Amino acid sequence: MSVSSRRKSIAFFITLGACLVALAIALNVSWILLNPREIALLVFGIIFFLLIITGLVLNTTFLIREIRRNEQHDAFINAVTHELKTPLTSIRLHLETLQKREVDENKRREFYDVMLADSDRLLQTVEQVLRAGQSGQRRRKTNLRKIDVGELVRECVDLTRVRYHLGPDAIGLVESVNGERPQVKADVDELRAAISNLLDNAVKYSVKDIQVSVEVATLDDKKVAVRIQDRGVGIPPAQLKRIFKRFYRVPGRVMARVKGTGLGLFIVRSVVDKHGGRVFAESEGSGKGSKFTIQLPRV
Ligand code: ADP
Repeated sequence: MSVSSRRKSIAFFITLGACLVALAIALNVSWILLNPREIALLVFGIIFFLLIITGLVLNTTFLIREIRRNEQHDAFINAVTHELKTPLTSIRLHLETLQKREVDENKRREFYDVMLADSDRLLQTVEQVLRAGQSGQRRRKTNLRKIDVGELVRECVDLTRVRYHLGPDAIGLVESVNGERPQVKADVDELRAAISNLLDNAVKYSVKDIQVSVEVATLDDKKVAVRIQDRGVGIPPAQLKRIFKRFYRVPGRVMARVKGTGLGLFIVRSVVDKHGGRVFAESEGSGKGSKFTIQLPRV
């Protein structure tokens, strides 16, 4: 279903709901006017009509929510298909070239590098989808152990630098730690995925000039914070909470250029929740960069 026909069906359901509510109110009023003396009937009538009206309102709300969800699922499937198809097509093209033509040693190495990068991208998409599926299951077993937050963040920063071929100045890391190095009890794979997702976004949504600053800071004896700040496209204030929902992507032209599935921040929130922490986004608006903070309980 296209966006315009979806809009039409939403408009249709809202109109239908409003007409039905109006009809029920009209019936209710005429009932009162026609049966002034039959008190019992009147009371039951009012109760039933109120029930009908509530039901209709709930029904309409539900329908609209379902249509919106469907819309997000469609966008998600398109995004995932694109994310799977593009690297596969590229790998195939390079393999075909290698098979059909004589390619010199340098070119061959270059092709291998491209294919490796493409297969990494494929793997990343598949892992992201699998992780989002697992995050939905609340009681999944986790493998908790004590980890040094600073070390984990450093590892994630290095990984992001390699993945996006960034120079040493693109991502700065600062540790503002008083006293002992902060440790948390966590599932290291999950926390690594969460921090990496935030770093990926900071780079992806920087678009032009990549200047990301990462900070690991002890807030007090009980909490440690990881802050990731970029100077990218920013987030409008109304979207700051919504972006953590599954499949949600901020609408707009800039966002449409940057590919993604809308799963990254959902995974971040699920992981952080599971570890007893919280995550939030701050931004002064479009074009003004964003800052994401994860707070976790220390051990
Ligand atoms: P994806 O990046 O795959 O679209 P995410 O769940 O990681 O999905 O992010 C959801 C949305 O939040 C993105 O589509 C983007 O609009 C917005 N967003 C996330 N991180 C940033 C950031 N650092 N700067 C600006 N917008 C961001």
